[in-house]
Amino acid sequence: MSSGFEEIGERVYLLRQPALDVNVTLVVGDGEALLVDTLSNAAQAGELAVAARAITPYPWTLVNTHHHFDHCFGNATLAGEPARPIYAHRAAAARLREQPELVRQQAYDEMRDAEPLLAAELLRTTILAPTHPVHLESTLDIGGRTVVLRHLGRGHTDGDLVVEVPDADLLVAGDLVESSGPPSFYDSYPLEWPETVAELLRLAGPRTVIVPGHGAVFGVDGVRAQHEQLSTLAWLIRDGHADGAPPERVAARAPFTPTATMPAIHLGYAALSGDT
Ligand SMILES: [Zn+2]
Repeated sequence: MSSGFEEIGERVYLLRQPALDVNVTLVVGDGEALLVDTLSNAAQAGELAVAARAITPYPWTLVNTHHHFDHCFGNATLAGEPARPIYAHRAAAARLREQPELVRQQAYDEMRDAEPLLAAELLRTTILAPTHPVHLESTLDIGGRTVVLRHLGRGHTDGDLVVEVPDADLLVAGDLVESSGPPSFYDSYPLEWPETVAELLRLAGPRTVIVPGHGAVFGVDGVRAQHEQLSTLAWLIRDGHADGAPPERVAARAPFTPTATMPAIHLGYAALSGDT
């Protein structure tokens, strides 16, 4: 059971779903609202809808920060009838529209051992693809509030969107940064990720609130620290590849756990060898 939304900025609210510690952000304007990310399944999304309705009666537009199940499998429940618009980066939107069963299978494989009940539910969840693909930038008017959706480059995936709420000095970063665990590299572009987070930092001021995909909100210092770790890892991968070092030796020196880091090294090595 989720604990409900808490205000983290002017008419901006955060719900932290205990399962996987996923964040959902609610932005409320005059007569209209925006929900960023929709959780993992119909049950979680149903609870999320109840929690959001405790904050606002207004219709909401949806955003998926990327295509991973814990950020978009609640779409079908939350879009309602007639369906509300759903924004996502065009790569994420295309994957959910054209290859939903592949996305579902990857999600199932990822969760099967750690969360078998959740994994089984993923097989039954209706996947609703985003309706509004974003290429580089899209500016929304949410009941008189400007909200900017930006793709800052490849990183956690090839289709991460950042949601900027300028009048609240707030950025929703999706899984480009995480505070409850190490970054998740299995779908990532580890050599490009640092520059994408550098772009995120360029959007942030000294007091900007930055909502990670998982875990407690960051200030700019927390994101700067994660940027340094990602940069360190990218250079370890480049050096290791140049030296022909086995991935395990690179992982032992990385700023994240070896288990978290190994996919990054394999993907980074493949990119440097021209295999991707
Ligand atoms: Zn993710």
